[in-house]
Parts: sequence; C-alpha cells; structure tokens
Amino acid sequence: MIKTSDILDEKDKHLRAKNYEVKFPLSEDKKKLINDMLEHLYYSQIEKFAKKYNLRPGMGLAAPQMGVNERFFVICHEETEGNFKNYIIINPEMISHSEELIYAAEGEGCLSVNREVEGIVPRYARATFTGYDLDGNPVKYRVREELAIAFQHEFDHLNGIMFYDHIDPKDPYKNKDYMREI
Ligand code: ZN
Repeated sequence: MIKTSDILDEKDKHLRAKNYEVKFPLSEDKKKLINDMLEHLYYSQIEKFAKKYNLRPGMGLAAPQMGVNERFFVICHEETEGNFKNYIIINPEMISHSEELIYAAEGEGCLSVNREVEGIVPRYARATFTGYDLDGNPVKYRVREELAIAFQHEFDHLNGIMFYDHIDPKDPYKNKDYMREI
C-alpha cells in the first residue's frame, strides 16, 4: 500500500521535471502502481482508514508525485455519499473547455503540499479530456465542477505546474468576481 511518505513533497525535483508519453502495453508494475494510487486515494477519503493509516484526504494523484515522470494521473471521486468512482487517464489531452471559470471556495489542496496556501485557482467549469485506459483503449471524459477542478489540477502536474503557480501572491483573490465559487 502507498504510504503518505511515499508521495513526493513539493520540493522534489520530479514535480518540475518533464513528463514523457506512456508506452503501451503497460508493465505489470505500472498497472500495480496505478491501482495502488487509486487505493490510496480511496482509503484517504474514508475516515476510519485515513485515521488508521494516517492519510491526508485527497482525490487525485499524478505520476510525478510518485517519482514517475510519465504522463498519467488517477482520480477517485465521491460521486454521491459513499459512492466512489475511479478515473485512470494515460497520455491525457484537454480537447475542449468552457469559457466559464470557477474556483474552489476552500482553496485547492495537493498531497505533495503540506501547508495551507491562501488564494484561489481559476479553473474551467467544464472540460473534456481524452486519453487511454490501462489497456490502451481510448477514453473520453466530460467533467464539470469539482471533478473538472481535479482533472485540471492533475493535468497541470504532468506539465510541472503546481496549483499555487496560478495564484498571484500579491493578490491571491485576483479576479474573484469574474469566476463562480463552488
Ligand atoms: Zn497536486
């Protein structure tokens, strides 16, 4: 099982390095890593497991956070109370997005960032991502609201971008009035 200490801290150079396209077929090790990442996210969002294993709650992880500089990420999203849906997206592209911008009222968090960061991160309210699943089959996800924020946050990791790179430290709530809070 992936422990909290297995997730790289923001200062680690992997988080700013170039990430390479994944080649298919995936090795068994890579498939296992992907499933372990999802397992970690699931447990982290269930209070009793989070306590037991000392996990910080999180809904997404990208490969570079695990020290793997390749283009994939996973998300475990609570769709309705207690119902989680797993997303795996390999070699993702964002093919379209809304004009409308949103931001998470409570700010964004990241399993690689162990501190509070003040400010809002503008995200598209809706976006469409394409990519591949574990077996190399094409996938397409139309995502919105909280899930759209998570996809964009993880996609950014594949380009070496941290969520706080979008925040102006001199004006952390810049353009707030032009975006919808969720
Ligand atoms: Zn992150």
